[in-house]
Amino acid sequence: MYCGAATEPPDWFKTDYGIKLGDYLQETIEQLNLVPLPDEVAGTASLRLLAAGDELGHGFQKFRKFIDPLKCRSRCGGTCMLGCQYQAKWSARNYLTDMIEAGGELITRAEVDRVTVQDGVATGVTAKTARGDLEVKAETVIISAGGLGTPFILQKSGIVEAGQGMCIDPLVFITGVSKHPGTCLGPPMSVGTYQYMDEGFILSDIIDPWGLWPIMVIQENPAMLLNFLSYRRQLGLMVKVTDERKGSISVKGPISKPLTDQDRARLDRGVKICKEILIKAGCRPNSIMVGKVRGAHPMSTAPIGLVVDQNLQTRIPNLYVSDASVIPRSLGRPVVLTLICLAKRLTSHLLRNH
Ligand SMILES: Cc1cc2nc3c(=O)[nH]c(=O)nc-3n(C[C@H](O)[C@H](O)[C@H](O)COP(=O)(O)OP(=O)(O)OC[C@H]3O[C@@H](n4cnc5c(N)ncnc54)[C@H](O)[C@@H]3O)c2cc1C
Repeated sequence: MYCGAATEPPDWFKTDYGIKLGDYLQETIEQLNLVPLPDEVAGTASLRLLAAGDELGHGFQKFRKFIDPLKCRSRCGGTCMLGCQYQAKWSARNYLTDMIEAGGELITRAEVDRVTVQDGVATGVTAKTARGDLEVKAETVIISAGGLGTPFILQKSGIVEAGQGMCIDPLVFITGVSKHPGTCLGPPMSVGTYQYMDEGFILSDIIDPWGLWPIMVIQENPAMLLNFLSYRRQLGLMVKVTDERKGSISVKGPISKPLTDQDRARLDRGVKICKEILIKAGCRPNSIMVGKVRGAHPMSTAPIGLVVDQNLQTRIPNLYVSDASVIPRSLGRPVVLTLICLAKRLTSHLLRNH
């Protein structure tokens, strides 16, 4: 599940952690042809927001996308983020066919429980499947269960320090009703600004899928529910911030992720700018709604420097992690391009050393 926005990894991987991703970034941009969408695919709502954001001095631009403009029908709008029926949006699943053709085996519907360890070295994983318990042996074990799934597996495997602290890049959607075609009529996150990254936030165009829209509005703005009638004329923006690494995730208890004063101040500043842009783009001021705070990027639950080393290896030899949990601090920007670069770097390391 993602909107297909492609944002480069931050420089601090190199300056603060000695991890150079530049070559992998260039390779990925070329291999996957990550380019901004042409005007006719980006949609009129995105272009209207781009023009308004630019005119107000917020440095709006088109974002690079993981979307093939030739295949994109540009009409899925709000539901684009849920998957692509036209195969226009790149997915990591594309590689599974190659893997199977090369002789690999894909086991689906298996929930990995823990890593098996012999003489202090990782030897495989155990998993639960519909057909019963499964044990898989491997020379190298790479856990990629995401920022929420990986710490559970690591904790059950004796790495109890995983999951102590988490980032989620908190975000808020802001929408308003206009007379013009709405954000739901084009791919989300086609435009936005990185101008405020140093202040800890980015802005981009987005609206909830129509099925989710009323659920989110009932929670935060129930009096505005009738705005649903004008869903197709609503313009939407999002502020997404870098957050402090707080809270915990544990097999023993609930997930906790408190927002700090700094997180809230960044959200508030971004919301204020989004409201100005929406009004400039033609939204009625009294139709503007500020949604609930949410987080779409669980990460930093097995961070580089604390749970894995620079090569993404845990303190258990042969056990690696490759997903958003290794990112050492909040990215405050789309995650997938950074994850691809880290995964390519891990692959090079494994090919050199195993
Ligand atoms: C609505 C939305 C829009 C987004 N848009 C963008 C965007 O435009 N651009 C961008 O770069 N990022 C975007 N993101 C963020 C991005 O999708 C995630 O950050 C990214 O997918 C994280 O990758 P991951 O490999 O860490 O984890 P995931 O992609 O979550 O993969 C982990 C997988 O492991 C599985 N798993 C978990 N536990 C187990 C277990 N015990 N056994 C077996 N399997 C397990 C999960 O089911 C999941 O399939 C978006 C996120 C959301 C929610």
